[in-house]
Amino acid sequence: MKKIIHVDMDAFYASVEIRENPSLLGKPVVVGGSPNSRGVVCAASYEARKYGVRSAIPCSLAKRLCPEAIFVYPNFPLYSSISQEIRAIFHSVTDLVEPLSLDEAYLDVTCNHFQESIATKLAEQIQRTIFQETNLTASCGVSYNKFLAKIASDWRKPNGIFVIRPKDAPKFLLELPIGKFYGVGKVTETKMKSLGIHKGKDLYLWNRDDLVFHFGKVGAFYYDIVRGVDNRNVNPTRERKSLGIEDTFSQDSKDANFLETKIESLVDGLEQRRLKRDIRGRSLTVKIKYSNFTVKSMTRTYTSWLEQKEEITSIAKDLFFQVWDHATSLRLLGIALGNLDRDNQDEDSPSLFDQMEV
Ligand SMILES: [Mg+2]
Repeated sequence: MKKIIHVDMDAFYASVEIRENPSLLGKPVVVGGSPNSRGVVCAASYEARKYGVRSAIPCSLAKRLCPEAIFVYPNFPLYSSISQEIRAIFHSVTDLVEPLSLDEAYLDVTCNHFQESIATKLAEQIQRTIFQETNLTASCGVSYNKFLAKIASDWRKPNGIFVIRPKDAPKFLLELPIGKFYGVGKVTETKMKSLGIHKGKDLYLWNRDDLVFHFGKVGAFYYDIVRGVDNRNVNPTRERKSLGIEDTFSQDSKDANFLETKIESLVDGLEQRRLKRDIRGRSLTVKIKYSNFTVKSMTRTYTSWLEQKEEITSIAKDLFFQVWDHATSLRLLGIALGNLDRDNQDEDSPSLFDQMEV
């Protein structure tokens, strides 16, 4: 039996901003663009959440929900450096660390550097060390697989630890609302409910074939997880840093119309990959390779997610016409999204979720 801990920082970006500026303590803090911009909320303090403010809603809506909210511009370099500190703490416990985003990771502590057999003790130690070193709180979920550990970390937020033991798992899963199951997003949740599946106990009554019939191969996964079965390993390979696509032309070209069309089709391809993986990015890079193989690139970073294809297209063209000398033939064009967000979906088993809602 494995021992897995899922560690999730509490309202990470907002908590960092409050740490940096203690006058924000106890106030509704919204990290994002200006309340008048079309940007979205990156994070909200627990005080702001009481008003219904949460990540990914437009800043203007956040302002309407909570007029007294204090808007803070995100400081991603700072979040990223704190994230490195936290990861170092994880690695002091085990080599098997799988980061899901800047503030979240799975740890397989079945074997650990402290030869500690009680995972809950390690979770307490991790929480304590994070607080001592960063003055920030984290919540931990402890269980025997990734799915249950992730659910558990959410159960006692903030600054909580929740353990799901093998003997407690069935009861826990049967009462779990269907939207809380791993891989069940809004669209699947609606579909499940239309089939009469509201809680784990409803899902439990379905056989594997019927679930596969209705949901594709991910249906088999739902069959397993409601039984507490999730054999995914904690995968310590590096997380994806960017999502890109490039095209080497059959013939070098300096025809601006041709190149512009190429950018449009690259954006199409990127958009498909992005939706398939449920990834959002905040920066866009355009790369060009001249006929003499010289490579140039240009990146632009935004405070809000680049999610509109039209927007990505116009940024890509703008960057392209800045980086290209307008005279020399090109042999390759590429575009990539960076500063990715992986909060919404685990990195692993991508093929399993290829057919999930996008
Ligand atoms: Mg978090």
